Amino acid sequence: MTFPSRLLAGYGHYLQKGFVRYKETHEHLAMYGQHPEVLVITCCDSRLTPEGVFHSGPGELFVIRNVANLVPPFEATDGQHGTSAAIEYAVSALKVKHIVIMGHAKCGGVQAFRENANKSTLKGDFIGRWIKLLEPAAISMACMPVDRIDDPQLAMEYAGVRQSLKNLMTFPFVSERVEAQDMELHGAWFDIGSGELRLMDPKTERFETAASSAILAAE
Ligand SMILES: [Zn+2]
Repeated sequence: MTFPSRLLAGYGHYLQKGFVRYKETHEHLAMYGQHPEVLVITCCDSRLTPEGVFHSGPGELFVIRNVANLVPPFEATDGQHGTSAAIEYAVSALKVKHIVIMGHAKCGGVQAFRENANKSTLKGDFIGRWIKLLEPAAISMACMPVDRIDDPQLAMEYAGVRQSLKNLMTFPFVSERVEAQDMELHGAWFDIGSGELRLMDPKTERFETAASSAILAAE
C-alpha cells in the first residue's frame, strides 16, 4: 500500500503556497487555540467545499460534514452521537455565533431517501438508517408545501435543511442561546454546477439567491 502520490504532491504544493500564506495565522491558532464564529454543517459530498464557498482560511469555520447535512433531534440515549457531539462542542465550548446548515444540489443522500423512502432498512445499512432523519421533512413537505417548485429533488433538499434547523432547536444548549439572541441559525443551499448560493429567509422559509448581496458585501 502506498500513500496516494496525488496527495503527497498536493501536500508539497500546500507547504510551499498554502501554509506559507497562512503561516502567521497557523502560529497564532497553535498558540491561542481556535475561536471560530461560525459552525457550518454540510454534506460529505466531495463537490462541496465550505472553505472554498465562503473563502475562509484556517480557524474561521468549524465544519461538521455528514451524509445529506442532517442534524438529528436531541436524544439523551446511549450511543455514539457524532454530529450531536460536534454541535455541542461548537456551541457550548467554542461559543460560535452562527450555525449555517448548507444543503446542496444533486445530493446523493437526499436522492437515496427519495428512492428508498418506503423500503425497510437492512441491518448494517448505515446510510438507510441515517437518512430516515429526512422522514419528518418529507411529511411536513407533503402537508404544508413551502415551495412552489416542480422539482422534487430540490424541494426535498430544501425541506431537509428546514428540518435540520428545527432539530437544532431541540438541543437545550442551542435553543437557550438562540432565544437569548446570542446565536443565530441559518439555512443555505449551494448549486454545484453554477456556484449559486441560496439563503433561507427565516420568515418565509423560502430560499433566495445570495449573489447580488454577496457581491456588494465583498466590495
Ligand atoms: Zn449531499
